[in-house]
Amino acid sequence: MVVRMKCSFCKQDAIYVRPYDKSALCIAHFNEKIIRRVQKTITKYKMFVRKGRIAVGVSGGKDSIALLDVLTKVEHKFPESEIVAITIDEGIEGYREEGMKFAKKHVERLDLEHHIFSFKKDFGYDLDEIIRILGERGNEREYGACSYCGILRRKLLNLAAREVGANVIATGHNLEDEAETILLNVIRGDTLQLGRLDPHPRKIHETLIPRAKPFRLTPQAEIVMYCYINDLEYQEIQCPYAVEAFRGIVRDFIFKTQEKQPMLCFSIVRGQDKIRPVLQTVKATKTLQNCQKCGEATTNNLCKGCWLKEKIESIEQ
Ligand code: SF4
Ligand code: ZN
Repeated sequence: MVVRMKCSFCKQDAIYVRPYDKSALCIAHFNEKIIRRVQKTITKYKMFVRKGRIAVGVSGGKDSIALLDVLTKVEHKFPESEIVAITIDEGIEGYREEGMKFAKKHVERLDLEHHIFSFKKDFGYDLDEIIRILGERGNEREYGACSYCGILRRKLLNLAAREVGANVIATGHNLEDEAETILLNVIRGDTLQLGRLDPHPRKIHETLIPRAKPFRLTPQAEIVMYCYINDLEYQEIQCPYAVEAFRGIVRDFIFKTQEKQPMLCFSIVRGQDKIRPVLQTVKATKTLQNCQKCGEATTNNLCKGCWLKEKIESIEQ
C-alpha cells in the first residue's frame, strides 16, 4: 500500500515539500502560501502604493507568467490599483516569438492591457543585428550578448512604463536571481551597486520609474511548481545567447550549494537586507544627470543605450 504524505496544514495529500522548512503542502495550501508570501514581500518592502498603476514586465518565461497570475490575485483586493503588461521584443530569432505567444495568451486570459515594445522600433536594430554588427565575442565584441541586451531592455522597459503611465515596474526576478545579483556585486567588489539593490522602489531620478521584485523571497522551484499545478504554460527553451553570461557560473554555484544548504539564498538576501543601510552610506562618485542625446538618466554624458547606438553606427559607416 502506498502511503501518501499528508499536508502539514490539513488532511489532503501533499504535492510539495519545501526543502528549507520541511513543510508538506497540498495544492490549496501551496497556492495559499505562495500568494501570502508575495503579499508579505510587497508589504515588507512597501513595493506598491494604493492607487498605483503597476507595469508588469512579461517575457513569457515561468517567472513573469507566474508573477502576472499571482499579482492579479493579490491586487484583486485593491480595486484602485491597476496592472498592465509590457513585453519587450528584443528581436531574437527562433526564441522571442514563442515567449511572445505565451505572454499574449496569459495577458488575454487575465483580461489586461498589453503593450509591446521592440528594440527594432525604438532603437533601430534588433538584438540579432546588434550582435552580428558587433562581431565575435572575445574578438571584436567586448561583452556577452546579455550585457547589450540588458542595457537596451532596461532603457526600453523604463520608457514603456513611462509611456503607459505606470508608477512602478514589477519584474519576475526570484529568490535565486536576487541572491545571484548580490553575489555578483560582492565578487566585483561593487559596494555602491550592492547598496542600490533596494527592494523598496524609490524615485531616484525624474526619468526613472522605480522597480519592484515581488518574487524576491520566492524560490524558483516554487514558481515552477506554481505554474505546473495551475496549468500555466510558459516558454521553457533557453535564449540562445544565455551561454555567454558570466552569471551562469554564479548560478551553478548557487544551485549546487543549495542542495546541501537549502537556506542559502534566504541567508544571502536577508544578509543584504541587514547590511543595506550601511552600504547606502557609500557615496557615489558620479551623480545622475540627463543623457545629452535622449534625456534619460545616466552618470555619463551619454546613457549606455545612446553609447551603444553610436558604437553600432560608427561600425556600420
Ligand atoms: Fe537578453 Fe541574455 Fe536574456 Fe537572452 S539571456 S534575453 S540575450 S539578457
Ligand atoms: Zn541616451
